[in-house]
Amino acid sequence: MQSLTNRSKVVSNKQMTLSEKLYIPAILAGLQVTIQHFFKKKVTINYPEETREHSKFFRGRHVLKRDDQGRENCTACGLCAVACPAEAITMVAEERKKGEEHLYREEKYAAEYDINMLRCIFCGLCEEACPKDAIYLTNRISLSNYDRNQFIYTKDMLLEGNEEDLRINIDNRRNGVREGAN
Ligand code: SF4
Ligand code: SF4
Repeated sequence: MQSLTNRSKVVSNKQMTLSEKLYIPAILAGLQVTIQHFFKKKVTINYPEETREHSKFFRGRHVLKRDDQGRENCTACGLCAVACPAEAITMVAEERKKGEEHLYREEKYAAEYDINMLRCIFCGLCEEACPKDAIYLTNRISLSNYDRNQFIYTKDMLLEGNEEDLRINIDNRRNGVREGAN
């Protein structure tokens, strides 16, 4: 029968030699490959103890910025949520009350602000859309976890200055402790 590619091979049924039956050449060839790789520079790193240098254009975990007086920039306009192609952002807006001017820069603020990190594709469109310089993607990578629920990052985890609390929040959630209880 005519072949389409001419790449077919005729399989030989010849008897194996003694050394082939002992598999010694094959074992030595395999060992040679292993030894060669043993002395090569490793391509892996000991993450998380070691991390790689990221490109300056790297887009990692988000942060909700504060102004120079420590007030939250976000005015809960929702433009980031509209721009997000993954529909990863949700928020609840509230009016700023009298006496809260030191907490929130604008008259409206996000009482709740969540990002579903499992949906996020780190495209940066939320940052582009924000008219208040309130949301930025940092060069910090997202935290790993075993539970899908831990990837809903709430406002207290995203707010600038709360980075130290992030691990505590995640540990509390994992242990079933209500957020804000400590
Ligand atoms: S980086 Fe992109 S996908 Fe992630 S929350 Fe922002 S707009 Fe949505
Ligand atoms: S982060 Fe920016 S775009 Fe998103 S709701 Fe807040 S002010 Fe609006």
